Order: sequence, then structure tokens, then C-alpha cells
Amino acid sequence: MDRSKIRVLFSAEAIAQRQKELVSEIAGTNPERLLVIAVLKGSFVFAADLIRAMDAAGMAPEVEFMSLSSYLEGTVSSGSVRILHDVESPVADRDVLLVDDILESGRTLTYAKDLLSARGARSVRTCVLLEKPGKRAINLQPDYVGFVCPDVFVVGYGMDVAHAWRQLPFVGVIED
Ligand code: 5GP
Ligand code: MG
Ligand code: MG
Repeated sequence: MDRSKIRVLFSAEAIAQRQKELVSEIAGTNPERLLVIAVLKGSFVFAADLIRAMDAAGMAPEVEFMSLSSYLEGTVSSGSVRILHDVESPVADRDVLLVDDILESGRTLTYAKDLLSARGARSVRTCVLLEKPGKRAINLQPDYVGFVCPDVFVVGYGMDVAHAWRQLPFVGVIED
């Protein structure tokens, strides 16, 4: 598979522009001691750009990571969520922003949100780069959505297929 087979769906420029808008919405809620929790691995590029957009907007978030797995090697959800890596600092009384790449069934993010709420977070909001409508198994309404994504398998901007293409600066779809 070569790179020329990947069609741009959301360009780096479009993502950067949308991020600014999301950050101004997030800033408008006046979070206190905001803790950004990036759900690895898929959201690492999005989260990295998001926190720098936050800095540009005068925000000073702390950053943590959680690694959750609901997918095996393939492209079909296994339906269960496992914690591979947990946050290292306490979340009690923190305003948390959970950042993920794609919201599909909602299982991953609902699991993480419930866990952090149960640990006493002051608030838990969710921010996803992409939302795939019509695929929800759990009724989770994300607080911030970058783009509504068509029902295709996307790669790039942190997202992979079989460990490949995370490095692409855009979100793309593999054409056959
Ligand atoms: P769910 O919302 O079903 O629990 O999980 C969504 C997760 O499935 C995303 O965070 C992502 O890791 C993975 N996923 C869903 N759709 C796609 C896709 O089109 N491309 C890639 N690379 N991952 C996807
Ligand atoms: Mg994910
Ligand atoms: Mg994956």
C-alpha cells in the first residue's frame, strides 16, 4: 500500500482551523486547573495540537494519558474495553477534558468518562476529532466534535490501520 492511495478527507489546515474554534468553546467554559486526558494511541497527534492551540488561547492545561483498548488488530470493535495504561495523577476535583480520535460505538469514551467521574472528577467533558453518526451502541453525547465523519475507515493524524499511517498530517481514507 502506498501513500498515493490515501485520499485526504480532512486536511491539516482544516483541522488546525477547527481546533481553534473548539479551543475557544472550551475556554468559554472557564475550566479550573484543566486536566487534558488523551486516550492513546489514536488521539496523541490531535491532543498535541489541541494543547498548543490552548496555549495560544492563554490556557495552561495539565496533560495525562490513558491507553484503552476496545479494538484488536482488525477494524471491527471487539465490544470490550481494557485499561492498558492509567492516568498517573489524581483526578479528584479536577475539570477533565477527555480527548479521543473517533467516537463510534461510544464504548471506549463512556467507559473512561464513568471511571473518571467515579474517581471524583469535578467535571468530565469529552472532545473527539471525529464522530461517526449512526454507529452508537451507547448514548454518549460528546461535548466537542471536530468533524462529522462519513462511515469509512480513516487513517492518519494519529490514527492507524495495522499500526501504519499514524504519521500523516491529515485524516485520509484508503482507496482501493
Ligand atoms: P468506540 O467509540 O466504538 O468505543 O471506539 C472508537 C475507536 O475505534 C476510536 O477511538 C478508534 O480507535 C477506533 N476506530 C473507529 N473507527 C475508526 C476508523 O475509521 N479508523 C481508525 N484508525 N480507527 C477507528
Ligand atoms: Mg481510540
Ligand atoms: Mg487503532
